[in-house]
Amino acid sequence: MDKIKFTTEELDKYMDTCISLAKCSPFPMGRPYVGAMILNEEGNILSNGYKTFLSGTNMILHAERNAIYNSNISPMSKHSRRSHILITTLEPCSQTRRTQQFCSCSELILQYPISTVVIGDFDDVSFSNGKPSSFLSSRGITVIPHLNLRERIKDELINPLYGYDSGKVYTPAKTLYKMSRDN
Ligand SMILES: [Zn+2]
Repeated sequence: MDKIKFTTEELDKYMDTCISLAKCSPFPMGRPYVGAMILNEEGNILSNGYKTFLSGTNMILHAERNAIYNSNISPMSKHSRRSHILITTLEPCSQTRRTQQFCSCSELILQYPISTVVIGDFDDVSFSNGKPSSFLSSRGITVIPHLNLRERIKDELINPLYGYDSGKVYTPAKTLYKMSRDN
């Protein structure tokens, strides 16, 4: 499998865009906010995705699933070659909750001609806890942690005390505490 040909700067830029995408989720979606995009091997952006509700329901479509569906790439067939790249702010899920109606994003990734998954952060808060990357890599998908923007992802998209919600970026609780002490 080809090694990814993007520079660090390019990956920073893609990840920055994914962070912005994550904030397009409708309120009240709930954290973690996630943004994702699909690129072809030439580095052209084919699609993007963020968490949404399945139309008319309260079921959540994950960012990776939306990015894959929006890209219009066909599922793997006998003749397809894995060549596409998925960039996502957070490690894709590999397990499904009982309430989830769909397969996990990692399983979905296997069904499409995606060779490489670039993740902005590990999912160390949820039930998936470190397993998704190994789930994918053990099945031949290259998983590249690109953690340069990790602190922003944690602060803006994951941390419940300091995250984007409903169009606002909240002041972190620690800062509020400090402000009240200062006054
Ligand atoms: Zn998922």
